[in-house]
Amino acid sequence: MRMTVLASGSKGNSTVIASSRTRVLVDAGLSCRELLKRMAQVNEDPAQLDAILITHEHQDHVAGLSVLARRLGIPVFFTEPTHRAWVRMLTPRTTMTYAQWLDRVQQEKLARAERVPHDYQGAAEVIVGTLPTPPQDPEILSTLCAEAAEEEDLTPAPKADPTDLPAVEYFQSGSNFSIGDITITPFTIPHDAADPCGFVFEAEGIRMALATDLGYMPPNVKAALKRIDVLLLESNHDLEMLKDGPYPWSVKQRVLSRVGHLSNDATAEFLARDYDGGAAYIVLGHLSEANNAPELALLAAEQAIGGRMTLLGNRVLLAQQSAPLGSICL
Ligand SMILES: [Zn+2]
Ligand SMILES: [Zn+2]
Repeated sequence: MRMTVLASGSKGNSTVIASSRTRVLVDAGLSCRELLKRMAQVNEDPAQLDAILITHEHQDHVAGLSVLARRLGIPVFFTEPTHRAWVRMLTPRTTMTYAQWLDRVQQEKLARAERVPHDYQGAAEVIVGTLPTPPQDPEILSTLCAEAAEEEDLTPAPKADPTDLPAVEYFQSGSNFSIGDITITPFTIPHDAADPCGFVFEAEGIRMALATDLGYMPPNVKAALKRIDVLLLESNHDLEMLKDGPYPWSVKQRVLSRVGHLSNDATAEFLARDYDGGAAYIVLGHLSEANNAPELALLAAEQAIGGRMTLLGNRVLLAQQSAPLGSICL
């Protein structure tokens, strides 16, 4: 099995999880272009992806979702409340009514008709304009007319619906499901989104887990993170840096709250007290650029793991915002 973190942090999150037969992308929090670029950098072929899974609807997890899913033509897995929240987020509060839209289309047609004949705007007008005498063959004539009529009818479509996806599949936290040979267990996390979750992925006897964007470590998350071989775990902020940092008071309160993000201390506490010590790799992720320093996150985690760090087990890595982390293969 393989985990490739393409990006991790408050400006965008995305991770590839792969077995030898199946590949899924967890979150698509960078632009489609950037995600494809990063996949190319780490030799992950986007055409091989089977599905996209979404943890929650925050922008840093869905920014490139629609475009990427449509481009690859693959299904997107959400919980139903997350899908609904995402659709709401993308649907502007005031949209044009159908009558208004028709009216606008009509106006645009009139404006086109008023232009001088050589001010070609549409392909249909070009066809008409370049055929001063109709061809003699009635079949060709009827084909051309049909084409011209069809194109004339091509009214400017409203912008593609950003919520349009090739396919949507629902899952529920706490209920296993499978994609190919990967068994996925989503678990609820405490975070200020509609129905946020983390995931455990299991295939070929290996278990990998993602747990970021959580205000604290509740018992269900601690229970989900047992017997994990590769764990991507949030280590968002240093408490002192956050308190003294640039964020407005209300944002600081949100980050610190029980539906915000895990501090280095909270992550260290989990690693020292609750973690079973069985992972080959612990990847620290979703580090705040403003309120954390990679060295601080690493130091806190390594101290918490203490003597359990060996050449084969409990190696601690840092996922980055600006570049992908090389694949971790087990
Ligand atoms: Zn996030
Ligand atoms: Zn979030």
